[in-house]
Amino acid sequence: MFCVDCGEEKPIFREGSCVECYLKRHQFTTGPPFIDIPACAHCGSLKYKSLWTTDTLETIVKRNVKQLFSISNELENITIEVVCTEEQERFSCNITISGNVEGIPISESNHVFVRLKPHSCDMCSKQFGGYHEAILQIRPHEKKIPKDELFKIRQFVEALIVSMKQQGHRNLFIADVGDEHGGIDFYLSDKQASATIIRKVQERFGGVLTTSSKNIGMKDGIQLYRVTYLLRLFPYRQGDLLEINKHYYYILSLSHHSIHLFNLTTGEKRSIPPKELELAKIIEGKDQIRDMIFISQTEKDIQVMDPKSYRVFMVKKLFPFTYETENIRVVYIDENAVFLFPCEKQK
Ligand SMILES: [Zn+2]
Ligand SMILES: [Zn+2]
Repeated sequence: MFCVDCGEEKPIFREGSCVECYLKRHQFTTGPPFIDIPACAHCGSLKYKSLWTTDTLETIVKRNVKQLFSISNELENITIEVVCTEEQERFSCNITISGNVEGIPISESNHVFVRLKPHSCDMCSKQFGGYHEAILQIRPHEKKIPKDELFKIRQFVEALIVSMKQQGHRNLFIADVGDEHGGIDFYLSDKQASATIIRKVQERFGGVLTTSSKNIGMKDGIQLYRVTYLLRLFPYRQGDLLEINKHYYYILSLSHHSIHLFNLTTGEKRSIPPKELELAKIIEGKDQIRDMIFISQTEKDIQVMDPKSYRVFMVKKLFPFTYETENIRVVYIDENAVFLFPCEKQK
């Protein structure tokens, strides 16, 4: 048989044409020159149909292509590739649609301009409205949480929220933060995420957690609750010193169920439940931790000098270790109780 297009004697594919000529004459994909995609002007989220997402522009364009392009039924095993480059106030996107017709691979290129239409997404609108499902109240044992501790807690919570958002908690945001009753309050948009966050705060900073909830009305036939998590911190913190039965301890870290202590006299470490610390005397660590001048050492002791008073003290070595240093950090309780500060090696 002769092909009606090229006139050569070849097997006929369709409509009197050979395969090459048939494919040449046919366009299997066509689409619009422009696609408009709603984009949040505040957070950059993109919308496809009724759903706001943090998916990439390419992903959203691909979904639009599937919906808006007409793709011939003859084309099978379709794959779509999208490459966009930013131009002034729009994106120029190359769309490659590949597949096969009766086993013969076909690849067609199309071009669209994508315009982002500014909106405010569902979450940003909620955030501007102060929407919150949970309140985290972090409170001191008495008086006030010291400023540096407050700062650490705030940084910890904010970093946690950033990483949870990156892991897909799109609904999570801080609606408000307030300094309340010597502590700090976080108003958060998402109940489930808040439960995770307050537990992590407790694991890191210790304390006793209580939960309460309040009915805040109905929505779409569902009873809505706002949850309040109250975390009452322990009276001591990481870095504080404790005196228990005439032994001095340094608090290495604390969690909700145990306090990790370093015995300054023996170098031993132990973890004990918070209940056992009720009789401990708390010595806030800051003033006791001092740098002193290294003078000399034996196998068992180090001689150090206080740079302010020029008084000399003997400090017991907890481990057989030869120090090569000019200054040495110690814990000074009083002149009869000077200890080596727990160093990285010992911890
Ligand atoms: Zn032909
Ligand atoms: Zn937004």
